[in-house]
Amino acid sequence: MKTIDRSFINGEFKPTRGTGQFDLYDPSTAEIIGRTVLGDERDMLDAIESAREAFKTFSRTSVAERGEMLLRLHEALRKREDALVETAILEYGSPVTATVGRTRAAANAFLEARETLLDYPFEMAAGKKLVVMEPVGVVGAITPFNADYGHICGKLAPAIAAGCTVVVKPSENNGLETELLCRCIQEADIPPGVVNVVEGRGEALGPVLCGHPDVALINFTGSTRVGKEIAALGAGTMKRFCLELGGKSPNIILDDADIDKAAALALVIGFSNSGQACHAGTRLLVPKKRLKEVEASLKRAVAKLKIGHLLDADSFIGPLVSRKQFETVQAYIRSGLDEGAQLLAGGPGHPEGLGGYYARPTIFTKVSPSMRIAREEIFGPVIAVMTYEDEEQAVEMANDTVYGLAAFIISADQDRAMRIGRRIHAGMVVVNDTIGAVVAGPPAPLGGMKESGLGRAGGRWGLEAYLEPKVIA
Ligand code: NAD
Repeated sequence: MKTIDRSFINGEFKPTRGTGQFDLYDPSTAEIIGRTVLGDERDMLDAIESAREAFKTFSRTSVAERGEMLLRLHEALRKREDALVETAILEYGSPVTATVGRTRAAANAFLEARETLLDYPFEMAAGKKLVVMEPVGVVGAITPFNADYGHICGKLAPAIAAGCTVVVKPSENNGLETELLCRCIQEADIPPGVVNVVEGRGEALGPVLCGHPDVALINFTGSTRVGKEIAALGAGTMKRFCLELGGKSPNIILDDADIDKAAALALVIGFSNSGQACHAGTRLLVPKKRLKEVEASLKRAVAKLKIGHLLDADSFIGPLVSRKQFETVQAYIRSGLDEGAQLLAGGPGHPEGLGGYYARPTIFTKVSPSMRIAREEIFGPVIAVMTYEDEEQAVEMANDTVYGLAAFIISADQDRAMRIGRRIHAGMVVVNDTIGAVVAGPPAPLGGMKESGLGRAGGRWGLEAYLEPKVIA
């Protein structure tokens, strides 16, 4: 059993000064596998000071120098890919194929940021005036549990490209993953203080980081509830914010769709990352006249999903990350039953033959839009099927949410789906595909509308979140 008792500050692993502890579990068995010593205010202040000091010189490095650093970070992650994958399977419990994909995407975030950087005009003329894009300053990066490497690297890459220094406060659930990632960062030979990482509880370290006058920007990914707290904590020092928050994405199956294909795709969209995906399309909107066919297809498709056996290449669903997450999901399943929804698949408890924090992939039908399972983010493998009469009602129901992260449309008529897509209030709309479509190919802006967030990641949109324009006249 490993104990993580060091913080990564100023390029070194230093003994954590805090004394609290957080146990780490293998979510597929609920057995304890490690322990993290939690940092306290002193560790966080050391990290901020190190980032503040490093910013003085790092902010003046050249594009070429930062491009080289990004390349080295990419290579350092690729070199340790096997260990990173193994650790994420053990600690987070995601099946191997998805874990390899996410780990590689984390490494590639540095390459993508490098490409954007090499192309980006940091200075431009406005008549006789000069506009300069400057790094915003020290960045506080706070990340969730559901893709540790991806979230941390997705924030570090554009920050380093911009010339910012960073203090990361990762999720408490990912101690082993984060420690290994820090080793990669150390091997990439980045100047000391550019990246600092402190483990600890959000409630304890959040106020220190988000209220500190030397931190310019908070880049947070996590729940909308915590996002709102962070915005309030940062208001006193007028922080810049980039907030990637929760979602409850609609997935509209149009009446012209091939129902078997639509049902299979709907499960991939809804149960992505074992349901622990911010973009998961968990509100499945179905034309009333085709409900019976959709229900039958969903039942057939869910029976084919491979659950558990995390090292099998075709395994799709793993356990939830923690007991807390498992219990939250169970409470939502019970609330669906209490409010009168009907189970089409799954239900309370564990899948047959599995323990740990595995939940049963669950599909509710006869869901009404006012039920909690239709309105609140569950963050587990639970899909709510609702019906609509016509296209107008489908759009209205899709937009009837405080969230606006993603939306999915499945149809045989691409133009029709695109037309409907323009009417959906969401930052990312995907037609006949999974969320992978928005990250494939040239960079696009990634993020949410309404209570799903503020600002965008990806390409120049992501880089500009870390820059401030200045005019010299
Ligand atoms: P969470 O909001 O509970 O925690 C996220 C991070 O915030 C953790 O590091 C936590 O320690 C920290 N935190 C908690 N309280 C804090 C406080 N008062 N001040 C500062 N930091 C604090 O989220 P989670 O359970 O780890 O992750 C799931 C959530 O993340 C879901 O809501 C999901 O939708 C969201 N998410 C969003 C995206 C996106 O891109 N929009 C991506 C992944 C996950």
